[in-house]
Amino acid sequence: MGISEFDLIRDYFAALTPGRDDVPLGVGDDCALLAVPAGQQLAVSMDTLVEGRHFSPGDDPEALGHKCLAVNLSDLAAMGAEPAWVTLALTLPEANPDWLAAFARGFGTLARAHGLQLVGGDTTRGPLSITVQVHGFVPPGRALRRDGAAVGDLIYVTGTLGDAGLALRAAQGQPVAPDALAFLRDRLHRPTPRVAAGLALRGLASAAIDLSDGLASDLGHICERSGLGASLQIDRLPLSPGVAAYLAETADWALPLSAGDDYELCITVPAERRAELEALAATWSCGLHWIGVMEQRPGLRVVLPDGRETDEIPTGYDHFAHD
Ligand code: ADP
Ligand code: MG
Repeated sequence: MGISEFDLIRDYFAALTPGRDDVPLGVGDDCALLAVPAGQQLAVSMDTLVEGRHFSPGDDPEALGHKCLAVNLSDLAAMGAEPAWVTLALTLPEANPDWLAAFARGFGTLARAHGLQLVGGDTTRGPLSITVQVHGFVPPGRALRRDGAAVGDLIYVTGTLGDAGLALRAAQGQPVAPDALAFLRDRLHRPTPRVAAGLALRGLASAAIDLSDGLASDLGHICERSGLGASLQIDRLPLSPGVAAYLAETADWALPLSAGDDYELCITVPAERRAELEALAATWSCGLHWIGVMEQRPGLRVVLPDGRETDEIPTGYDHFAHD
């Protein structure tokens, strides 16, 4: 690297985020020393973004810094965990100061917004790849798990579905209304982790997952882990104007059902708590929409706009199925 690994860490990462009281020792030693507060469990999650697989060469480094952290925060949100600490493993083909400054800006801005401290990491040379591990707190028994859904529970999602997927298709040549494009691209490159929603859903949601691989696939995980099935009302899926226009033209329901990178929350809630949930979510800027119900019969079914039910659902993106 042009600058040494140690200078790089010092210049871009060591002081990127303010110190927290529960971090006796952060970046700079062989290990960080972290103090989990009394009465909390540690929620830990890791995600890797690889160039050519999760993002394209030449993508905006500031957005990448944001996204690599956002997708991890989304996992904490889906668990109902409160963000605390983060580590960052960066593999870089070269030490490009402009790239590093922009990446650190995107990463640091989102980290600070959530009170996260960057407490360590690793920096190596090689094909561009970014691994982030987040650590959060959740009191014992309060985490939102995938295995807690019951028959009759209502299924909800935050935000809108298929925006990132349509942005990807637009990049591949799919015509999209020009006034929707900036929003869709933003949803792909700068997802908003629903951390506050996840925290508010503690004690209310019976199960939760964040949508990274597509609604059908990810809701499938709740079904599997809960030993149940689900039925979705397709005309209830929340859509942004750009996706709604695209669907009006193409009826391509695979987009909101199976495109990845939404980073919204999908939750289940006991039916008797519907009013409580909807009152709570009324203040959320991302919104929360009812889309279906958990059922005893395994598998996923979709009720089409004409009322017919089908179990032929386009599946989500699988990293290995397409290799
Ligand atoms: P070691 O050789 O003992 O593994 P390193 O030289 O890799 O230590 O890292 C030195 C310090 O810098 C450690 O505290 C490590 O956690 C931190 N660090 C390394 N890379 C990063 C990074 N990209 N972001 C934040 N901290 C980092
Ligand atoms: Mg060491």
